[in-house]
Amino acid sequence: MLNKMKKNSHINFALCMVILCFITSACQQKEKSVATPELEKPEVSLPTWINKDYVMGNFEPKSHENFQLIDTKYADREGLYLRKETLEDFIKMWGAAKTDGVNLIIKSATRNFDYQKGIWERKWTGQTELSDGTKASDEADSKKRALKILLYSSMPGTSRHHWGTDIDLNNFNNSYFEAGVGLKVYEWLKEHAASFGFCQPYTDKSGGRSGYEEEKWHWSYMPLSKDLTQFCKQQLTNEDIIGFQGSEVAISVDMLSNYVLGIAPDCL
Ligand SMILES: [Zn+2]
Repeated sequence: MLNKMKKNSHINFALCMVILCFITSACQQKEKSVATPELEKPEVSLPTWINKDYVMGNFEPKSHENFQLIDTKYADREGLYLRKETLEDFIKMWGAAKTDGVNLIIKSATRNFDYQKGIWERKWTGQTELSDGTKASDEADSKKRALKILLYSSMPGTSRHHWGTDIDLNNFNNSYFEAGVGLKVYEWLKEHAASFGFCQPYTDKSGGRSGYEEEKWHWSYMPLSKDLTQFCKQQLTNEDIIGFQGSEVAISVDMLSNYVLGIAPDCL
């Protein structure tokens, strides 16, 4: 009898230990799961100069301390601006291209919100024709009208041209880059632009990329634009896109996912 009681108390003791271990380990696990999110920090910390007004082009490049006027040696007209870092590396790329017999000419650089609003609204109202010679204003349905403009033009507040990191080079037609001098330019850029920090965000869409059609003329300065893209992914919403005719469509076309983030993987 005494032996049996002893045996039972041993079993009880063992059971208590198992339960205690279980509780302790559960507590430890709970502590771990609380601590994990702090340790992981899933969102990359971004430079402090990047904010919503900046990415949406709500500033004047000519009076911004980090922007510089582009010498007409590199552009087809006066009054174009880029961020200093972008321009510095573009000039290096321009020189290397020149040595290889390739002439790079900037046709468009920084365009702020107001400038982009002008482009967008002239297309929206039919004052400017679309690249296929039709007028967007002939389309009564506002979503369809926006989608036509969005083949090649951004809504104000969503253009990479706001950032001072993106440039349009040589010609606004893909066909120019598919033969002769233009083909030589494009092949040079594809081979060398990345070593100067530039990538082509709007490549052909065969890989399933959403958004704008292919633009062989548009190049982006990655060392800065990758953080700006990341900021948009983290903080910009379709509801932020307001202040121009047709802005109500931003939500239904999902400007953020389909267009702002609809770029080639090389630019991410
Ligand atoms: Zn462009």
